Amino acid sequence: MKTSIPLQAPAGIGLVGFPLDRNSSFLRGAANGPPLIREALFSDSINRWTENCFDLSNPALLRDLGDIPDMDKLKGFKAIERTIRDMLEQGLVPVSLGGDHSVTYPIVRALHAAVSEFCILHFDAHPDLYDEFQNNPLSHACPFARIMEEKLTGTLVQVGIRTLNGHQKEQAEKFGVTVIQMKDWRPGQGFEFKIPLYISVDVDVLDPAFAPGVSHHEPGGFSSRQLIEMIQNIRAPLIIGADVVEFNPLRDLSGITAMACAKIVKELAGKIVEINRLEKKIKTESTGLE
Ligand code: MN
Ligand code: MN
Repeated sequence: MKTSIPLQAPAGIGLVGFPLDRNSSFLRGAANGPPLIREALFSDSINRWTENCFDLSNPALLRDLGDIPDMDKLKGFKAIERTIRDMLEQGLVPVSLGGDHSVTYPIVRALHAAVSEFCILHFDAHPDLYDEFQNNPLSHACPFARIMEEKLTGTLVQVGIRTLNGHQKEQAEKFGVTVIQMKDWRPGQGFEFKIPLYISVDVDVLDPAFAPGVSHHEPGGFSSRQLIEMIQNIRAPLIIGADVVEFNPLRDLSGITAMACAKIVKELAGKIVEINRLEKKIKTESTGLE
């Protein structure tokens, strides 16, 4: 049974960090990402306005809840689920910073407990659909296999994929995943959804030239602009949350990837404010007038 979460009357966006990288398969380091994305986001070198002209320095729009400390493997997942559940109960739309991509599974579990039906738009160089990877079913290579086999969503659309192999192709077919591979993507590709939407952004979807600070460099990806444009052109009745994961500061150069992540967070937040009409709701609350 679903709990009744006041998603229609949100308190704004909650920004939270999950510094967990134990489920990374190749390199650790993504756990150090959240504070550096935040540092870039709140840096004096930029302003807090989104390109669609919302001021995220308004705490009624964006509230920073900080990072959840001491994440170990399973307790970490429980803490993530609990954190997201608490945020939803407060009417906050969760925007989560990874950490590796394994964090998306507990986030989506918490959403599933609260929201009856939603779809997922997933930007990534990798489909992350392995049944298990290096004997770890909770690996960052597996979250969307877990999500699909638990039927936490009926609709998963993956974009930017350029590492599909035989096993993951079979998994995608078995789960009915829509995979838009990088080789098939064309400029102007739009995304329209009829039910509430969750957005997961693995920053390795960007070309390593735009985001070198990731554990798995996969050339031939999107420019920052192409990703931003796709986010800005999303159409959906409601956005119930988003994540930006897999930033690995150990491989970053001059903070380029940290700032790319901050920019993606800003544009995701701008889209959430726009689609969920948060500004209107906040004004209505303060004046009492609809
Ligand atoms: Mn991923
Ligand atoms: Mn990836």
